[in-house]
Amino acid sequence: MTAPVLTIDLSAIAANWRALDAMTGCETAAVVKADAYGCGAGPVARMLAIRGVRRFFVALAEEGVRLRMALGPGPQIAVLSGHMEGDADRLRDADLTPCLNSVDQVLRHLMALPGHGFAIQLDTGMNRLGLPAYDWSGLRQVAFPAPAFVMSHLACADDPAHPMNARQLRAFRDMTDGMAVPRSLAATGGLLLGPDYHFDFTRPGIGLHGADPYRAGRPAVTLALPVIQTREISAGDTVGYSATWTAPRLSRITTVAAGYADGLHRVMGPKTALYAGDTPCPIVGRVSMDLITVDVTDLPEVPPALEILNAHQRADDLAVNAGTIGYEILTSLGARYARNYTGVT
Ligand SMILES: *Cc1c(COP(=O)(O)O)cnc(C)c1O
Repeated sequence: MTAPVLTIDLSAIAANWRALDAMTGCETAAVVKADAYGCGAGPVARMLAIRGVRRFFVALAEEGVRLRMALGPGPQIAVLSGHMEGDADRLRDADLTPCLNSVDQVLRHLMALPGHGFAIQLDTGMNRLGLPAYDWSGLRQVAFPAPAFVMSHLACADDPAHPMNARQLRAFRDMTDGMAVPRSLAATGGLLLGPDYHFDFTRPGIGLHGADPYRAGRPAVTLALPVIQTREISAGDTVGYSATWTAPRLSRITTVAAGYADGLHRVMGPKTALYAGDTPCPIVGRVSMDLITVDVTDLPEVPPALEILNAHQRADDLAVNAGTIGYEILTSLGARYARNYTGVT
C-alpha cells in the first residue's frame, strides 16, 4: 500500500452529533457540503441518517444528487446555493430542497418547478447569500407557497462577544417572527451561543468533526503516511528543495508518500511533526508535491507509516501551523488518500 490512509472514525462523528444535539431542545440537522468536510458525504450521512438525522445540507445541487444516491429517499437534502440556472432537472429528479437566495431564484424556481418544495435563505447582515430585508418584505406582499423552512447564517458566531451576533438575531426575528414554518439560524458557532439562537433546528458542520469552535468534540480523522525510504546523512548535509534544512548532527531522514498536492500545505512544514505512535518527529526541509521528509534520528525503529493527523495533532493544530482554520485543513484532505471507515455499528 503506497497511498496514504485516511481513517475516519464514524463513531466519533456520531458522538459529536449526539453531544451537539443534547445541547439544544430542538432538531439537529447535519451539514455535509464539500464531501462532509473531506470525510466522505455518503458514509457520514448514511451513518447520521441511521441515527435519526432527517435533514442534510450541501452547497451545490450536484452534491445533492450524489448524496441522494447514497441516502435513498426520505431525508431532506437542502442546497445552500439555491436554484441556479440549469439545476431544475437535478432538483426535481433527486428531490432536493433549494434554499432560495434572491428574488430571481424564487421566480426561477416557481416557474421551472411549480409545486416542488423549497426553503428561503435570508440575509441578516453577512452580505453573502440570501434575500435582504427589503426584498423579503416585498416578496411577502405577494402570495407564494409556504417554504419548507426559513434560515439565515451568522457571520461572527465563533466569537461569542461579537456585537454582530445579537444584531443578526434581532434582524432574523424581525424578518421571521409569526411565520408558521421551521426557522434555523445557527451553525456550530451559533449552536454554542445558547438557546436564543437555536430556533427550530440547528445546522452544525465543523462541530461534527470536533474542530474549532467545537474543539471539545472528538477528532474523527487519522492520517497515516507510508514510509518510502529512510537514509542516514552526515552533519552539514542538507535536505530537500532549496536546501533549507542542514543536519546539525549525523541524522536519519525518512521520506513519506504525501505532500502539498494532498492538502498538506507547504507552509505548515516548519512547525509540523509526524508521529510514530506518541513520538513526534519534526518535518525537515520543504514539503514537496508528493513527498515529505522527516527527522527520525531519535526513533529506535522507523514504523511502516507516520501519522500527521491523530489525537496528538488535530486539524486545528495543522491549521495554526499553516495560518488557516481547521475547515480548510479538513476540506483540503487529498483525493489520493485511501479512505477507511471505522466505528460503524
Ligand atoms: C457551512 C455552513 C453551515 C455549517 O457551518 P459550520 O460552521 O461548519 O457548523 C451552516 N449553514 C450555512 C449556511 C453554511 O454555509
